[in-house]
Amino acid sequence: MKSIYLDNAATTPLDVQVFSTMKPYFQKEYGNASEFHILGRDARLAIEQAREKICHFLGGKSQEIFFTSCATEAINLAHKGLIEALRRNFKEKPHVITTAIEHKAVLESLDHLEREGAVEITVLPVDKWGRITLKSLKDSILPNTVLVSVMYVNNEVGTIEPIASIGRFIRMTNKGRKRRIYFHTDATQAIQYLNTKVNYLGVDLLSLTGHKIYAPKGIGVLYVREGTPLVRQMDGGSQESGMRSGTENTPSIVALGKAVDLVSICRVSESSRVKQLRDKLISELLKIPEVSLTGHPKVRAPHIASFVVKNVEGEAVVLLLSASRIFISSGSACTSSSLTASHVLTAMGFPEELSHGSVRFSLGRYTKEKDINFVVAKFTKVVQRLRKMSPE
Ligand code: PLP
Repeated sequence: MKSIYLDNAATTPLDVQVFSTMKPYFQKEYGNASEFHILGRDARLAIEQAREKICHFLGGKSQEIFFTSCATEAINLAHKGLIEALRRNFKEKPHVITTAIEHKAVLESLDHLEREGAVEITVLPVDKWGRITLKSLKDSILPNTVLVSVMYVNNEVGTIEPIASIGRFIRMTNKGRKRRIYFHTDATQAIQYLNTKVNYLGVDLLSLTGHKIYAPKGIGVLYVREGTPLVRQMDGGSQESGMRSGTENTPSIVALGKAVDLVSICRVSESSRVKQLRDKLISELLKIPEVSLTGHPKVRAPHIASFVVKNVEGEAVVLLLSASRIFISSGSACTSSSLTASHVLTAMGFPEELSHGSVRFSLGRYTKEKDINFVVAKFTKVVQRLRKMSPE
C-alpha cells in the first residue's frame, strides 16, 4: 500500500541528493576536523563550505553561524548563553518576553531560567488566530528587558508571527535605551518557505533544525549576530570557535549545507505549489460539518493545514488514517496517564474538549494533488465513522 506522508512539520524524509552529498563523510572522509592531517583538513574544509552556504542563506557572516545538534540545543544555547553572559554585569534580574504559543524548547528553556531565579518572564497572549500584537509587546517592555523570543511560524497551526515588524520595533527601541534588548526567533518551521534573512528580520539570534528541510536529524544551527554576548553551554574541546564543544558532526553539517542549497533553489516555486495544495485541502475539509480551521486563515505558512473536529479525538483520526498509511499529526500530547490539550490551542481560546479534536496536515516536497484528493476522501470517512461511535 502506498504511503501518503503529511507530517512534514514533524520531520521530513532525507532528500536523496542530500544523502549522497553526506555519504562520503561516513566512510571515506571520516577525519576529525580538528586534526592537521589530510583527512582532518578535508573534513574542516567541508564544514567551512557548509557554513558558508548557511551564512549565504541567512545573510549573516560565517563567524555568526554555530552548528548544534538540533533546534532545541540552539534555543537553549541562545537563551541560557545570553542570560549567563548578561548576568555577569547586571544588578537587576533580567526580564525576558516570549509568547504563549512557542515550542516547548523555548518555553521550557525559559522556564528553567525562571525556576533558577535567573530571569523574570512575561508571556504574551495571542489572538484567536495565534498572532501576538506589537502593542502587547510594546506594553510589556521594562527597563530590565534583555531578550524577546518569538517564533516565526507556529508548528501546530502554521500562523506566521510579525517577526520583521518586531525586529524593526526592537531596533528603534534600542536606540533610546541604556540596556539593549536582544531578539531571538525560532525559525524552525519557516526556513523552508519564508524569508529568513537575518537583517530583513532584524534578529540577533535565530535557531533552526535540519530535519524539517530534508537533512538528517541531529543537526541544527544557531545564528548569533556579531556583538551578541553569549556564554557556551557545552564545555570541552572548544569546537565551533569555543561556542559549542564536541567533535563536529561532519556528515550532517555537509548535509545541512546541501539542504539549504536545495531550499534556496526551489523556495519560491515550492511555496506557491504547496500553498495551492494546502488551500485545496483546507477548502475540501471545511465542507465537512463542524470542522474548523485553526490558525490564521491567510497569514500562515504554506505547508500547514490544521483543524479542530468536533466530537472526535485527534488521536483516533491519526490512528485510523495511519492504518491506511496516511500519516498526519494530532495537536494534543498523549502521555501514559493524561491527555493534555495543546497549549497553543488553549492560548488561542479553544475549549479543552474541542482541542482534543485537533489534527494537523503538513505538506512537503513530495506531496502531490492526487494525495490531497485521496486524503480528503479517507478523512471524510474516518470522521463519519468516529462520529457514529461518539457518545455525543
Ligand atoms: N521549534 C519548532 C517550531 C519546532 O517545530 C521544533 C520541532 O518540532 C523544534 C523547535 C525542535 O526541533 P528539534 O527537535 O530538532 O530540536
